Amino acid sequence: MTRPVIGVFPRTQRADRQRLFDALELAFRVRFQGRDANSLAGLAAAVFIGSSPAESLPFPWVAFAQERSIPAGARTRIGTDAMIDARLRGRELTDGSGGCAIPLGAPSGSSVLAATGAGPVWLALREHPRQYLAAIAPAELEAGEPLRARLRAGSFLPLLPLVHLLREIDGGRQWDQPPQRAAFIIDDPNLHGLRYGYIDYRELVARAKRGGYHVAIASTPLDYRFVHPQARALFRAHPAQISLTVHGNDHEHGELARVLDAETALSLGAQALRRADRLERHSGLSVSRVMNAPHEECNEVMLSALYRLGFDGLARDLLAPVSRPGAKPAGVLADWEPAEILGGLAILPRFGLQSDAEDFAWRAYLNLPMLTCLHHTELAGGLDVLDRAADLVNRLRPTRWMSLSDVCASNVAVARSGSSLHVRPYARRVRVAVEPTATEIIIETPPSDPAVDVRVTCGPAVEVGTFGSRFRFTGPFSGVVAIEMGAPDPIDVDAVPARATRIWPVLRRPHSCRSSGPLIELLRQLS
Ligand SMILES: [Zn+2]
Repeated sequence: MTRPVIGVFPRTQRADRQRLFDALELAFRVRFQGRDANSLAGLAAAVFIGSSPAESLPFPWVAFAQERSIPAGARTRIGTDAMIDARLRGRELTDGSGGCAIPLGAPSGSSVLAATGAGPVWLALREHPRQYLAAIAPAELEAGEPLRARLRAGSFLPLLPLVHLLREIDGGRQWDQPPQRAAFIIDDPNLHGLRYGYIDYRELVARAKRGGYHVAIASTPLDYRFVHPQARALFRAHPAQISLTVHGNDHEHGELARVLDAETALSLGAQALRRADRLERHSGLSVSRVMNAPHEECNEVMLSALYRLGFDGLARDLLAPVSRPGAKPAGVLADWEPAEILGGLAILPRFGLQSDAEDFAWRAYLNLPMLTCLHHTELAGGLDVLDRAADLVNRLRPTRWMSLSDVCASNVAVARSGSSLHVRPYARRVRVAVEPTATEIIIETPPSDPAVDVRVTCGPAVEVGTFGSRFRFTGPFSGVVAIEMGAPDPIDVDAVPARATRIWPVLRRPHSCRSSGPLIELLRQLS
């Protein structure tokens, strides 16, 4: 499919903002072309920077009045017009450049989509085709700066009108994004007892049930040897409230960030999976195959190993500090979509408990799963902090709270076009409901950074290609189709040699609240 072409006027602005427009091309499957005035052939839309169209154009456009901004923060009130995304409608949000925006004159018949205290800064002039005026143009991205840095609490006003327009023309289709989904993720606890640090699992489950939320316990596979019978019974009885997911393997310092070669990375990842398999066999519990990287760090070698080993994804907080260069790779689309693909692996964004209502609003607007991570020490004052965060999420829109496995399986956008179903998966394995009238499924794999090959499975059919390309499958299909984006050279976990048993990680295991004496515990883990 040819991508819709969007003209950038004047022509020089395309090159002046090359990184920004390149990033938007990746995010929206469009092409930006610098154009001279009156060169309109083949355009699906237009962007004017520091200028506005001289004549009435037959396609949508947005015109930015000010080419540049200076830091001058201001509160910006988003309008209540129905054309504004419901997740932002009527909100008052902070922006670091809003104070320098020169108010726009609002012609009669226009709608104010956003205003600062000084006046309108974003207007809709007409609806068919859509035409917008905005105060400040988005600046060029810095080298290495993700697009998300321009659409977050404190920084959004220049980019939002452009994103709004691009969403209206994205591939010419109306995409159904995943519903709002959420989970808390608590790093480190094990199931050696009914308590871990400040957590009492019975209380946590009762509170989650009352508040309607879900807590994923990111537990270190080293600790999987023993599951306390009462903890097992509690987890088994309440799968809607509590689940397990993976947190490193031995939880050594920099564990997933200092691996230098593929062999070591594969052996580490395979051991984590074998430990998870064993826990599942012995306890009847299930472990989400989503890696929550200790200290939010996982380098490219390790990401590639996790992809080939078949992890469903990795969750990490991009904003947490790194201990070394390369510890936390991120691409230009980091935290922009339901997942970013790095080296073939889906990276789910997760964020700390300190988030406020504006942070949550932007995550909702970008269709990110609402994953809030914390440590047990943040619950020292009780579980009210979870209730408050859950309330902020639930107030945005109806939310389904679920395990990280279920977050992955539902991390998919779909668009219907006649008898074709277009699918954008954002995890290794997703499931999609297919209507009986569908004759073909077109899978648009997201771009991966770096670009790697992918083996796409749609029901029983398989195609191999590169991330970022489209894969076409013809029916008939069952009512729910399983779609997988796996490595073309997958690794059989059982074929990876076992690592030698190492005593040091067990002895130095941090802040565990153990249910038995350290010696008994050590013997259990080494057995
Ligand atoms: Zn940890």
